[in-house]
Amino acid sequence: MRKEQKIIAKTITCKKVEELISDYLDHELAAELNELIEKHISHCSVCSRLAYDLQLILNSAHELKDVPMPEGVRIRLHQTLAAKLNITFADVPATTAMAKTTLV
Ligand SMILES: [Zn+2]
Repeated sequence: MRKEQKIIAKTITCKKVEELISDYLDHELAAELNELIEKHISHCSVCSRLAYDLQLILNSAHELKDVPMPEGVRIRLHQTLAAKLNITFADVPATTAMAKTTLV
């Protein structure tokens, strides 16, 4: 028997649902986990509310994706985020590299 199955057993806590809810809404969970969360949500008003709210947020985020962000705004946003969070974006290489690519 797989360890994972033992841990999740037949019930799931609100805390666990909270952890997994975004994966659940993105349909990224294994079928058995998915079922457990569905069951939990059907009888837990706190988690069903959470799922409902998150779904709304996800829906509006998906709608926003359809509106293309102006190129300059996107690059500036990514550069700001990259600097603030110390991360890199595949579409926004380091400034010098970007200048070279653009000029070629
Ligand atoms: Zn709950």
